[in-house]
Amino acid sequence: MHSITIAVAFAIAVTGCAPPLRPAPLPPIEPANLMSAEDYSTRVGGLRATLARNGVELDTIPVIRTCATDHGPQDKCIRCEVASRSDTANVDPEMIDGVAIAFGMYPTTMIAAAKLEHVALCRTIRYEGKESESGPPQGGPLAQGGFGPQDADRNRSAGSGPAGVAVIGDHRLLVSIEHFVGKRHDLYDFFTIEEVVHHELFHLLDHETLGERAEHDPQWQALNPRGFEYRDPSTAQDRPRGFVDGYATTNETEDRASVFEFLLGHPTKLCELAQADPVVAAKTAVVWERVARIVGDPFLHSHAPCVGWLRSSTMLPKQLGPAPPEGPARRSILGKMR
Ligand SMILES: [Zn+2]
Repeated sequence: MHSITIAVAFAIAVTGCAPPLRPAPLPPIEPANLMSAEDYSTRVGGLRATLARNGVELDTIPVIRTCATDHGPQDKCIRCEVASRSDTANVDPEMIDGVAIAFGMYPTTMIAAAKLEHVALCRTIRYEGKESESGPPQGGPLAQGGFGPQDADRNRSAGSGPAGVAVIGDHRLLVSIEHFVGKRHDLYDFFTIEEVVHHELFHLLDHETLGERAEHDPQWQALNPRGFEYRDPSTAQDRPRGFVDGYATTNETEDRASVFEFLLGHPTKLCELAQADPVVAAKTAVVWERVARIVGDPFLHSHAPCVGWLRSSTMLPKQLGPAPPEGPARRSILGKMR
């Protein structure tokens, strides 16, 4: 009886010292329209696997920051907030597949020649301390970007940063999903995330193949209309003759990257431009020839068949490659152009 009394008293004492019972915490409320964990994992896993086949790593650290501080006072630090599932509200899941498909197009020789080692999908890309006035990278060997906010045709969101940056010194491409949130992914849209991949990858390749000459390429400069001068940032709203779009008038590296972006991303549009613009045709030929040295003509023919036809025309030097197909095959190519 005595021991029972002690046990009851102990139980009361223990109970009396316990903190008051609290309800179990509720799970955090997810933003609406997030991709499901399974879907996100599957699609990002697909992108990671695609990159890994060429020895490229998909970045997972939360923030990537690169400073081009050794290239003059105008250089800025670039900050990528790496995207996670919590950033996928109103993101079309197929956009992630689009990035994987764009990288997956390339043979290993292209990835190796560009010395690409890392890819980051960014929620945003900004210039440190310049959140409200972010602009394009200032060139130089460390970072080259595309799609700055001054390029109104491609970026209509005020205050947003570039959709892509090639961080040459780090062998890394930053691709921002910011510009594609709330949009249905459509490969044939005017501006796609695939184009960002092609454009930025070419920046890496251009630098690795030309080196210092990437900023002063006599062969390229000789193609420009007489008296033309690049202007950074570009102010061209409409496409000037000799360029695929206004952004291409920024500088010669953006000019070449924009031609390549069209070559892989919108070849039919490029062919239409080149048919009526001999300078665009000649620039297309130069980009084709330089890339074909690395990946071969068949790769480019398969992705831009109409350009193969253009190269047989009198507008382009014929020594740049084999003749296009004749007969029915050629007719089908022409039909595709229309
Ligand atoms: Zn660019």
